[in-house]
Amino acid sequence: MAPIRRKPTRAVRVGHVQIGGGAPIAVQSMAATKTQDIEATVRQVQLIHDAGADVIRIACDSRQDVEALAEVRARTRDHLVNGKAPTLSVDLQENYRLAEIVAPHVDKIRYNPGHLHHHEKSKSIRDKVAYIADIAVKHDIALRVGVNCGSVDPEKSAKFGDDDVGAMVESALEHSQMLDDLGFNRFVVSLKDSDWRKVLEGNRRFSAQRPDVPLHLGVTEAGMPPDGIIKTRIAFEQLIAEGIGDTIRVSLTLPFEDKGQEITVGRELLDDIQNGRFRSVPANFGEGLNIISCPSCSRVENEQFIVLAQDVKQMAAYAQDHKVTIAIMGCRVNGPGETDDADIGLWCGPLGVNLKHGEEVVGHFPYDSVLNEAHVLLDRVIAEKAGV
Ligand code: SF4
Repeated sequence: MAPIRRKPTRAVRVGHVQIGGGAPIAVQSMAATKTQDIEATVRQVQLIHDAGADVIRIACDSRQDVEALAEVRARTRDHLVNGKAPTLSVDLQENYRLAEIVAPHVDKIRYNPGHLHHHEKSKSIRDKVAYIADIAVKHDIALRVGVNCGSVDPEKSAKFGDDDVGAMVESALEHSQMLDDLGFNRFVVSLKDSDWRKVLEGNRRFSAQRPDVPLHLGVTEAGMPPDGIIKTRIAFEQLIAEGIGDTIRVSLTLPFEDKGQEITVGRELLDDIQNGRFRSVPANFGEGLNIISCPSCSRVENEQFIVLAQDVKQMAAYAQDHKVTIAIMGCRVNGPGETDDADIGLWCGPLGVNLKHGEEVVGHFPYDSVLNEAHVLLDRVIAEKAGV
């Protein structure tokens, strides 16, 4: 079977993996364990690598996380699959200054343009990008500019208002230009949202303006299988069939030991597209109940998150024909913002769960009682929408 026809992008080397430049589409996943739980994170990296991952991402938010990362790197270096060690990437959140101590232990760093304003407020964004690019050059690693609709640069949000795709695309273009101006071109870009329609639009618009930049595709917080897979499939089938996309991540809410599924599902999806097996989607898919949930990562505040997400899905099954969106997030980093647009939001704290109705906070409830509270709220939301 002929390889999938792709738009030509430049080649970006990430460890022993090439992204773009005509290389096969690379498949990625992310460790969901707490980075400082070294045993669990080593096992998670090994499991995802065994599943056939090209790149594995780990989150680092603190110096302690970076120390753990160094050990995870050392302990997984000999875990070879087809003669290759895991290729590691790190996700920097708000503390971009960790780049300096992260870089020696990874092959790629992802930074989020929407998080660069948090630290060193007097320093310009351009200077911060120059600092990160300089570190990437010194350590011979790649970068990803990872733009996310839920945490877009506040200046862009203010400028674009409701046009969140516009804000996302402009942010991605601006950072690409900044890196170009610095003479740094070893980077890929991602534009993610939990709504596949926005993923389609954002990636199409970016690719039209910067066809040279390799794209990392993903529907973030797609949720649990099977809906999370269907949402991802819709976006990937369209984009990849148009030749857009050089690397993918299928982002699913799964128990830790099942994380390899993100890779197997990603490979199946690519195989289906390559062989012309496009799945038809029921005309009413996405019209009724929509459950968004994050794939969890090292920032997850309580490991009960996965069970909570599964329980909410089960509890809400009776509402499947109602146009209601429920968002369930694992932590305070993205939880408060990424639940704002949902009818019902739940985001996890260490000991309890924050429940929201749109942007309004309903309360903070223990894990064993939040489900009942969410049920009561769901009844209320359904009644409100029906005009009762
Ligand atoms: S919401 Fe928090 S726990 Fe979930 S994937 Fe995002 S950063 Fe990780």
